[in-house]
Amino acid sequence: MAGIYIHIPFCKKACHYCNFFFTTSTRFRETFVPVLIEEIDLRADYLKDEYVSTIYFGGGTPSVLPAKTIQQLIDTISRRFEVIDEPEITLEANPDDLSFAYLTSLKQTQVNRLSIGIQSFHEAELQWMNRAHNSKEAHEALENCKKLGFNKLSLDLIFGIPESTDEKWRYSMEQALEYAPDHLSCYALTVEEKTAYHTHIKQGKSVAPPDELTEKQFYQCRDLLLHRGYEQYEISNYAKPGAHSKHNTAYWEGIPYIGLGPGAHSYDGKNRGWNVNHMVQYIEGIKERKEIFTEELLSKSDRYNEYVMTAIRRKEGIDLHHLFKTHGEFEEHFYHNLKDIPQEYIMHKDGHVTLSPKGLIFADFVGSALFEV
Ligand code: SF4
Repeated sequence: MAGIYIHIPFCKKACHYCNFFFTTSTRFRETFVPVLIEEIDLRADYLKDEYVSTIYFGGGTPSVLPAKTIQQLIDTISRRFEVIDEPEITLEANPDDLSFAYLTSLKQTQVNRLSIGIQSFHEAELQWMNRAHNSKEAHEALENCKKLGFNKLSLDLIFGIPESTDEKWRYSMEQALEYAPDHLSCYALTVEEKTAYHTHIKQGKSVAPPDELTEKQFYQCRDLLLHRGYEQYEISNYAKPGAHSKHNTAYWEGIPYIGLGPGAHSYDGKNRGWNVNHMVQYIEGIKERKEIFTEELLSKSDRYNEYVMTAIRRKEGIDLHHLFKTHGEFEEHFYHNLKDIPQEYIMHKDGHVTLSPKGLIFADFVGSALFEV
C-alpha cells in the first residue's frame, strides 16, 4: 500500500505562526494546476507496483481550488496510479471556503474526509493568529458540513496561545465537540523561525507560549477528549473508534508515499526526497523537465532514529520485536540509553515501550535520548 500527498501552496492570509510552504499571491493560480497534472504524469513510476490507499490534499489551503479541479486531480491520479476502491481522500480546508455552495460541489467529488483548520472559536485569538476566518464562519462551515453529510470530519485546534486561559481553551474544545467530529488534531502553538510570530517575539511585541500554560492545556485537552470517548492514538491526534487518519498512520508506519507539488516530501520505502520549495523553480522545472527533486539516502542510523521518534509519539509506542528485527545492531545502544531516561516518563507493556501519561509532554526529549548520533 502507498499514499499520495498533494501540496496546494495557496493561502488567503499568512497566519503568524506558520512556517509551511505557501504563498498569498494569486499570481500562479492559473499556471499551477496544469503543471501539477504534468508532475503527476511524470512521477507515476515513483510508487512502482504499489496500490494507493490514501490521497491527501494539504497545504497551504487546498479548499481555495474549485471542487471540479480537485476531482480533475483525483481523476489524473486514478489514471496514472493503481488506486484501491474507496480510498481515503482527505481535503484540508479553511472555514471561510466552506460555503454551502462549495460543499455541495465538493459532495460531487470523491473527497470523503475533511480536515478543517478551526484553531480557535475566539475572535481575539483568531485575529492574533492572523487567520483568514472568524468564529461565525467556523460555525457556519461546520453546520454546512453536517447538513450535507460530511461525517468524516477532523478539526484542528491550537492551544498554548499566550493570552489564553483554561476557560477559553475549554470553550473552544466544547464548541468543536458540538459538531461531533470523529477526529481532532490538537497542536501546541510553537515558535518557528522565519514567521511573523518569531519576529514579534524578537521585537518584544509578543511572548513565546508559556511552558506551564502549554503543559496544562495539553492535559486539559487529553482529559476532556478521553472522557468524551476519543482515543489519543498519537500525541496530537484523537479519534473515535476506527476514525484515525489512515494517511498519517501510514506515514508513521513507514509506508511509501509520493508528495506532489512544491515543497512536498516523498518516501519510497528506503529513501526520502523533496520537491523544491519555490514556486517559479517548481513551475519552470516541471515545464522544462529540470530536476526539482532532491533525494537523501537514509543511513541505518537515520532509519533507526526515525522509527524511535515516530513510534514513541504513538499510542502503541516502540515495538521491540519490530525494532530489533529491523535495527538489531542498535539493541545495545537502545537499552543503554533507555536506562538514562527518567523511568516515570515511560512504560513497558507487551513488548512495547510507550510514554507514560507524565512522559507525553516529553516525547521529543525521550525520542532524541534514544537516538544514535
Ligand atoms: S492557512 Fe494553514 S498553511 Fe496557510 S498560512 Fe495559515 S496555517 Fe499556514
